[in-house]
Amino acid sequence: MNILVLNAGSSSLKYQLINMENESILAKGSAEKIGNKDSFITHKYGNEKIMDESFFENHEVVVDNVLNFLTTHVISSIDEIKAIGHRIVHGGELFKHAAIIDDSVIKGIEDCSDLAPLHNPAHLKGIYACKKLNIPMVAVFDTAFHQTMPEECFIYPIPYEFYEKYKIRKYGFHGTSHKYVSQRASEILEKNLDDLNIITCHLGNGASLCAIKNGKSYNTSMGFTPLAGVMMGTRSGDIDPAIISYLMEKENLTSKQIDDILNKKSGLLGISGISNDCRDIENEAWNNGNKRAQLALDKFGLRVKETLGSYAAILNGVDAIVFTAGLGEMSPETREFICKDLEHFGIKLDYNLNKSIRGKEAIISSSDSKTTVLVVPTNEELMIARETMELVSQ
Ligand code: AMP
Repeated sequence: MNILVLNAGSSSLKYQLINMENESILAKGSAEKIGNKDSFITHKYGNEKIMDESFFENHEVVVDNVLNFLTTHVISSIDEIKAIGHRIVHGGELFKHAAIIDDSVIKGIEDCSDLAPLHNPAHLKGIYACKKLNIPMVAVFDTAFHQTMPEECFIYPIPYEFYEKYKIRKYGFHGTSHKYVSQRASEILEKNLDDLNIITCHLGNGASLCAIKNGKSYNTSMGFTPLAGVMMGTRSGDIDPAIISYLMEKENLTSKQIDDILNKKSGLLGISGISNDCRDIENEAWNNGNKRAQLALDKFGLRVKETLGSYAAILNGVDAIVFTAGLGEMSPETREFICKDLEHFGIKLDYNLNKSIRGKEAIISSSDSKTTVLVVPTNEELMIARETMELVSQ
């Protein structure tokens, strides 16, 4: 049976149709610029790629197009879709697990929109667009995995009333990815996940680490929003909070403008002045001797290493470290920077092996390392499909 996974953004929609018997991707695609005259959708299946540059007025038209494409080229009827799994960024404190979508779940997602105003309303568009199909739907939340964090990890040291009044606390994100790669690590290590302490490092354009204690999220680096934690492609991550009011006064900035600077003009882009893409920065640093590019790479590595070290301190023993997402999977240099000189923590990389691993599962620590270091390509869509399948099969 097949599961359709949807990730709806405000003007985009990505999908994958996954055959759950062998977990293979039957088709995938993405629509962009929905609502604009130059909207388009691409579909991929087997070795075929189809592009349709029609005007997609709204998400409903896109969903109709996806189903029309799937039933023409991939499946014989809509009955072959057992359920639809929707990626939802924010489930607040309401959703500790994935949930079968009904009116109360829709209301819950709406209630969390305040916490993710760019994401949740967009996901709802995807849900509304599918409602008429009468296929069971499941909401899978990026925040749910981190709902196991204890209060001392999720509370901020600001007046407690702001937690009570506005629910200001650490939520954490990338939960579906941290969950997937930690499960894979336990399978690769042939150990029960509940018996493992793992630090997962999701290092893409957005980046976060998760301290996983006995298989459950114990702490994570993103916070109330995905701006917190380690430095990222264009996001600052944690900085001295006093910088915000200082800069606002000095530069006469509005809250929207400072928000923009910290979210879109900081991180690797902010320091290097070149790009948010590590490939461009590595090229500038290593081939043209650009000092700011090198500084951006060093600062990124250092922020991850600092966070990794603090998680090693709170976990009381780390069985595995997992690298995933764009940089984690594809940049051996970044992995080496983070893991070097950690022998006294029991972390010993096999530097030669590490150099040869890009975008595939592998153990990259030496055989005498106490902590096993792994590369595991993430697969959030498959995780969403699995959780969807599990719920609709109950
Ligand atoms: P993601 O958000 O997981 O898609 O990761 C995207 C980021 O991964 C890009 O912005 C790059 O910085 C980084 N990345 C992807 N491929 C490579 C590569 N071959 N070498 C270094 N960095 C890479």
